[in-house]
Amino acid sequence: MTDWRRSRAWIDLNMDNLRKNMKFFHRIIPDGCLLMPAVKANAYGHGVLPVVEALREEGISHFCVASVSEGIELRNHGVQGEILILGYTAAEIFTELEHYDLTQTVVDASYAEILARSGRKLKVHVGVDTGMHRLGEDWNHTGGIAGVWEYGNLSVTGVFSHLCASDGISEKETAFTREQIRRFDEIVRKLRQRGISGFQTHLQGSYGILNYPECNYSCVRPGIALYGVLSKEEDLTRIPFMAKPVLSLKTRVELVKELNAGEQAGYGLAFTAGKQSRIAVLSIGYADGIPRELSGKGYVLIHGEIAPIVGRICMDQMFVDITDLKCAEYVKMHDEAVLIGNSGEQTITAEKFASFTETISNEVLSRLGGRLERCCI
Ligand SMILES: *Cc1c(COP(=O)(O)O)cnc(C)c1O
Repeated sequence: MTDWRRSRAWIDLNMDNLRKNMKFFHRIIPDGCLLMPAVKANAYGHGVLPVVEALREEGISHFCVASVSEGIELRNHGVQGEILILGYTAAEIFTELEHYDLTQTVVDASYAEILARSGRKLKVHVGVDTGMHRLGEDWNHTGGIAGVWEYGNLSVTGVFSHLCASDGISEKETAFTREQIRRFDEIVRKLRQRGISGFQTHLQGSYGILNYPECNYSCVRPGIALYGVLSKEEDLTRIPFMAKPVLSLKTRVELVKELNAGEQAGYGLAFTAGKQSRIAVLSIGYADGIPRELSGKGYVLIHGEIAPIVGRICMDQMFVDITDLKCAEYVKMHDEAVLIGNSGEQTITAEKFASFTETISNEVLSRLGGRLERCCI
C-alpha cells in the first residue's frame, strides 16, 4: 500500500463516502433542487481536483468558489457548468470573468454599476443581505436589487442570500433564521411581481439544508457537510446526519527518542519528561496546517492507541508521548500516526481535532496545506 505520497504526511480521501454523501443530500433536498457544492479553499482542504472530478462523475456540474483563480482552476479542468464566485472581484480582472465565463456575485447595487461600466458581457448572481451584513444589497432595497436587470451587459442568472445563524438551536438564532428566510422570500416575490423571472434562487449552505429542510429554492450550496463533517462536535449528536467523513489526515513516526526524567523536547523547552519517557517525532507540522496552538493539547492515534501531543508544534515536525502506550516498545520509524481518522478501534473526527484548539472543523480542514499529498482511496 505504501507509495511515495504516503511517505511523510498525507490526506486519504474516501471517494466512496463523498459519492454517498452526495446521494444523502440529493435525498434530503427537494426534487429538482440543484446541488451547487462549495469547493472553495481547495475543497475545504480536501483537494479540489479529486473532489470535483468525483462530483462531476456523479452528475454535478455547478460549483461555488471564493475567487477568480479558484474558478479558473475548475474551468481549466473541464468544468462546464456555472461557477459562482461568492466574493468580490477587482475590476482589473473582470476580463477573466468574461473569458472564463465565471458568474460574479453582485455584492451590492453600486458594485453592479461597476460591473456594468466595464462594458463586458458578464453573468451575475445578485447577493441579497437579509441580515448577516456581510455581502449583498439590502433586502428591502427592492429598487436597487431590481435595477441590476436593467444593465444590458449583465445577465442575471440567480439571486441569493446567506444564513448566518442556521447552525444555532437557540430561540434567538432560529427566530433570526426564519426572519432571513422571510426577507429572502419577500424580495424574490417582489422581483417576480415586477415581471422579473428566469433566475435561480438559493439561500442554504450545509446547516440551512439540514436544519431548515422545508425551504424550497432552486439550488443549495453545501460545503462542510458534503465532506461528511459538521462544524462542531456537539452538532453530530443533535442533527440526523448520515454523511460520512471523506478525509483522513495521516503522518509517520520519523524517529523515537528516549528521554530521561527531567530532559526536554522541542523549541522553548516546552516539554519536560516527568519520568523516563519515550517520545515519537512525527513528520508533520504547522506548515502542513497543524495549528501551532495544538502544542501540548490533544492527541494522535498510533497503532489504535491515544498518544498525547507534547512540546511545541514545529514547522515540519511535532512530538507525541508514547511512554504509556501498550505499543511503546515497538513503535518505530515509518509507523503511521493518525491525526484525523481511524486507527484500530479509535477515531479522531475532524470535529474532535478542531475542538482541541476550540475552533470549528471548517477552519482546520481549509487550512490543511498544499504540501500534503492527496490520495484517493
Ligand atoms: C462557504 C459558503 C457556503 C458553504 O457553507 P457550508 O457551511 O460549509 O456549507 C455557502 N454559501 C456561502 C455564501 C459561502 O460563503
